[in-house]
Amino acid sequence: MKKEKINFINISNEIFTLFEWKPPSSLKSYLLDLNIVRENMTVDIFFHLNRGTMKIVYIRKSNLLYVIGSDQDVQFQLLEAILEDVDEKFNEMYAVDVILSYGNVTEAAFKEFSCDEIIENAENLIKNVDVFCRVCKKTLPLNVKKSLIETASSYPVPIVYNHKGHAVVTYIDQNFVVRGVELVNITG
Ligand SMILES: [Zn+2]
Repeated sequence: MKKEKINFINISNEIFTLFEWKPPSSLKSYLLDLNIVRENMTVDIFFHLNRGTMKIVYIRKSNLLYVIGSDQDVQFQLLEAILEDVDEKFNEMYAVDVILSYGNVTEAAFKEFSCDEIIENAENLIKNVDVFCRVCKKTLPLNVKKSLIETASSYPVPIVYNHKGHAVVTYIDQNFVVRGVELVNITG
């Protein structure tokens, strides 16, 4: 996917930012957005936020917080998939707990890490399935994270597609085939 669609990727712990990626020539700071999500202590659950013109997805994995911000037209499933890949590759590259145990560690310790390739190849982490929405009266491409289907404990897997002020629940089988679509009521 295009790097410009992603506003930032940030990996931090309670104390400091271990790694931050931004598209080339971006000078924006996302500190305020990061402070909002830092309060969340729940682990291993993805959270989604709409913030102005930006979508934010974040997840806490043990003592690290992974956050990604993107343009509004990027689907949450794709952002989740990118964060999963970032988490995997970051931990492949670094024994993070060991490095942090040294003390006096700064962002410099992780500067060899890069998200460029992950973002460029992000489309490989998802499948696009066509969903007919009877409110929009058209077929829409729905991004489904491959890991969501591949690690599911039962099928079909329900996924809610919230778009344009309404939502449909879609049931996806193990071959990424849509088995049903229903209009659902929303609150929150
Ligand atoms: Zn619709």
